Amino acid sequence: MTHSDCAFNATSSSQTWETWHQRFGHVGYSGIKKLLDNKLVDGLQIDQNSPKPDCIACTEAKLSEAPYGPASGHPTKPGELTHMDLWGKYDVASINGNQYYLLMVDDAARYITVKFLKTKDQATQSIMNYMTHLKAQGKTPCAIHADRGTEFVNETLKEWCHSQGIELQVTAPYSPSQNGVAEQMNRTLVELARAMITASDLPEFLWEAVVAHAVYLQNMSYTKPRAKEMPYQIWHDRKPNILHLREFGAPVWVLLQGQRIQRKMLPKSQRRAYVGYDEGSKLVKYYNAATRNILILRNFRFLSPVETAPPEEIAIKHNAPLEGEHDPPCEGEWENGTCSAAQENGAENPRKRKAEATIDMQEPQRTRGIRRDYRYLADPFPDEKEAGMLSVAKEEAFAMIPGDDCHSLKEARESPEWPEWERTIHTELEQLRHMGTWKLVDKPVGAVPINNKWVFAKK
Ligand SMILES: [Zn+2]
Repeated sequence: MTHSDCAFNATSSSQTWETWHQRFGHVGYSGIKKLLDNKLVDGLQIDQNSPKPDCIACTEAKLSEAPYGPASGHPTKPGELTHMDLWGKYDVASINGNQYYLLMVDDAARYITVKFLKTKDQATQSIMNYMTHLKAQGKTPCAIHADRGTEFVNETLKEWCHSQGIELQVTAPYSPSQNGVAEQMNRTLVELARAMITASDLPEFLWEAVVAHAVYLQNMSYTKPRAKEMPYQIWHDRKPNILHLREFGAPVWVLLQGQRIQRKMLPKSQRRAYVGYDEGSKLVKYYNAATRNILILRNFRFLSPVETAPPEEIAIKHNAPLEGEHDPPCEGEWENGTCSAAQENGAENPRKRKAEATIDMQEPQRTRGIRRDYRYLADPFPDEKEAGMLSVAKEEAFAMIPGDDCHSLKEARESPEWPEWERTIHTELEQLRHMGTWKLVDKPVGAVPINNKWVFAKK
């Protein structure tokens, strides 16, 4: 079963209007309805009888249903004309130290690309890189449309564009409104980002992640100038499936397996805040409040308190090495007979990011108490820590080891059934000895012994 099979099968039921509003980064209900009516995406299943309540985050973010960007003059082909705008300087540096972003909107597809920048003067190089990228994709960039900011009107860029045969169209002095497409898109992105970060209670320095997520979502959203196809489809020439979408900041359980997790009774997955996807939906980006960084991981799952699948339907795919990675021997990791290392701290164990154990289900509704000032809050789930850890432990047991079996000799010894198990162990050992199952030898030089494994199952 591939990851995508897994993700899509597990979430085949319909969701409310409100859930899709949250997953789509707080776009208006009418935009979601357009996606549905025009069948612009796969996987959008809505319970059409569900209510469309007013959204607190949208109200707080003062999100207006934006008029869609004006249509430009004559029709263009994807890649030919790019609308650009620079956003910043933002007074809160992002987690990566950026304070600007360069917005690039393709005129034909309305496909958005952003580059986050530390300084304004990085924009010129980013523009040249983007244009070069378009060419490498087989597109023919002909023009850039931007305002008269120095990031666009400078000799380096002018000369480069001239040499590449790209026309640099800048707006007339003192009329930035002519740069309507990019500016309108910027307003939309910032409003969506503000609504998402408000709703998530995540700290403001995650604005870069939330803007990137807003861009990801906008590329899969309805745009009026291109009503029959959405940006993603025009740009990539395929219809996206949006079943994997989750609300920004939603709890995601990340599996902390591998050599760092030696203590068997501790939960092996921990709750983090989902802040986006990478590589389509194969990798999840999550925020770790304790270490204040964003990490990327393959082993993750969203949970549902409503639709809990029975254990036998939860299939976890272990030991699926990524291409080019070999299998290091597993030590001290034997409950599941696997060594699927989640990369909680990327740098620590780069070789071990390999197992695919992704279960994609719906996230539980987070109960939100008193609204906090998100700017000063690093941990999105502060008062849920205890409960969260407990539920993680339970969930792990449920997902990985169905039933109430014991998972180690130590645990079995402490169980009331120990006398019975001890008898069984001796019987089993006697039988193995009788059959001559093994022969004791000295360990050959350089050999890596494989651990043995006791399974204590109650029948
Ligand atoms: Zn909203």
